Amino acid sequence: MSRSAHPAGPRHGDVLPEGHFTAPPADLNALDPRVWAQTVARTGEGAVAVGGLDVRALAEEFGTPAYVLDEADFRARCRAWRDAFGQDADVFYAGKAFLSRAVVRWLHEEGLNLDVCSGGELATALAAGMPPERIALHGNNKSTEEIARAVEAGVGRIVLDSFQEIARVAHVARALGRRQPVQIRVTVGVEAHTHEFIATAHEDQKFGLALAGGQAAEAVRRVLGLESLELTGIHSHIGSQIFDMAGFEVSARRVVGLLTEVRDEHGVELPEIDLGGGLGIAYTPEDDPREPHEIAKALGDIVTRECEAAGLAVPRLSVEPGRAIVGPTAFTLYEVGTLKELEGLRTYVSVDGGMSDNIRTALYDAEYTVALVSRSSEAEPMLSRVVGKHCESGDIVVRDAFLPADLAPGDLLAVPATGAYCRSMASNYNHALRPPVVAVRDGQAREIVRRETEEDLLRLDVG
Ligand SMILES: *Cc1c(COP(=O)(O)O)cnc(C)c1O
Repeated sequence: MSRSAHPAGPRHGDVLPEGHFTAPPADLNALDPRVWAQTVARTGEGAVAVGGLDVRALAEEFGTPAYVLDEADFRARCRAWRDAFGQDADVFYAGKAFLSRAVVRWLHEEGLNLDVCSGGELATALAAGMPPERIALHGNNKSTEEIARAVEAGVGRIVLDSFQEIARVAHVARALGRRQPVQIRVTVGVEAHTHEFIATAHEDQKFGLALAGGQAAEAVRRVLGLESLELTGIHSHIGSQIFDMAGFEVSARRVVGLLTEVRDEHGVELPEIDLGGGLGIAYTPEDDPREPHEIAKALGDIVTRECEAAGLAVPRLSVEPGRAIVGPTAFTLYEVGTLKELEGLRTYVSVDGGMSDNIRTALYDAEYTVALVSRSSEAEPMLSRVVGKHCESGDIVVRDAFLPADLAPGDLLAVPATGAYCRSMASNYNHALRPPVVAVRDGQAREIVRRETEEDLLRLDVG
């Protein structure tokens, strides 16, 4: 749902937006596989288990709130993307969605590459042993230190985002005696989000060099003239949570147009194109994302068709899914603290986390679902809003949900599809302690990111 779907703003969400559900689901205990990780199921006792472990035991051992990540699901999604794109393409996981050393090792083992967009992400990737040639460095304002560390480490790709950066990376590489492989990020004039995309000439945003007006072509000319840079291809990333492939079609056509121009002007056929990430996932059962093999076929067909029409050899394709890999693999486990019934409106259910562990609802009006997971219930559905414990009325986790009317303090709730952009965007607002990420697999659970402590907070506060 976009912000424009709430003309009165998020404070006035008591009027359900048009097209939004109004009736409770048939079975409040059901766990829709479209939004839950693959090993999540209710046990005979009615509680929910993941990776063979009861969530009540996980809450007991690791506390709440906690992100619970299904490692088998994560690995299966990596393999699905890897297999779908095959040997002639590369899948780069976008680390900004969620990154930790364990995740880097899983990616390495499953044959994926890794996008990083900061020195911190690069340090994590290198610390966990990702081969540098399988790392790509992104960002619209990489510092000279970040560039130097990446070049020194030998990253396989730096994606150039501005004229200043072309000069900066060239300078660093020359000083280190390296020839650095680079791509140029272009803005193709496609703004894609969920079911719509807009194709325009210009884009009013900070990333990339515009195809329109010749900035991108000028960037190519400059990079080709620099000995210390090896231009391997063109990069484009058009948006997020995209379901409709039409935006990629326009983007691919325009990128191939630039490759054609480059061949005609410089006599060079660039060997790679990267079409970015942004593929959507199901946050609610109404969302209907494409499978990796459908995406691979659609993108492969588009690129092949455009290249054949232009008389170009088909370049090596890469894609950069973040959300589509890690998003569905995790849920956030909360404990209910208080309930407040507002007569004729809804019941506010307060949990022990909130906007510090999931900012997406407040920031993007993101929609989520929620389920009672410590037991099943036959009680009537109750229109609810799940809110956090922060000192802010916009602190909403799930805006509209039906929960059983016998919900009580101490019950455990889980919000699915929180693997992407939740822990990675978590904050210490109100001096909240950021929750752990608990990975579960085959009856084993371990923290891959531990819970923050008050000591962690005070360590940064140097008095
Ligand atoms: C954010 C980003 C991605 C990943 O986006 P998802 O929506 O998580 O798939 C990929 N590439 C670039 C350049 C990005 O900025």
